[in-house]
Amino acid sequence: MSDCLFCKIAAGEIPADIVYQDDVCLAFRDIHPAAPQHLLLIPRRHLATMNDLDDAALAGHLLTVVPRLARQLGIADGGYRTVVNCNADAGQEVFHLHVHLLGGRRLSWPPG
Ligand code: 5GP
Ligand code: ZN
Repeated sequence: MSDCLFCKIAAGEIPADIVYQDDVCLAFRDIHPAAPQHLLLIPRRHLATMNDLDDAALAGHLLTVVPRLARQLGIADGGYRTVVNCNADAGQEVFHLHVHLLGGRRLSWPPG
């Protein structure tokens, strides 16, 4: 989608600290990290929200990349959290589906 920040990052039109990419998805560091390790994992395909996720293979691929990223960041054993904010009540700000991967500190529960 032409006017989407994360599509532009995926296309290389806006710089980002990309730590992983493949044909289906990429992961880059959040510009305002909420934890010592904070990645955003996005599909290359533009999907605005979790409500638009209609592709089981894509969903499975994204989920299987998570532990790979966690190991890469060194947080797999210590623990981490994945979050997908969907629409207004969850505070979604960027309307291109993304999985937050947070770790490197003790995370409180429940979230706010
Ligand atoms: P949301 O609130 O939509 O779940 O999360 C959007 C996330 O994108 C936020 O954590 C925010 O810090 C991050 N973000 C917003 N703009 C940029 C950007 O230009 N580059 C990067 N790397 N992250 C961004
Ligand atoms: Zn997009």
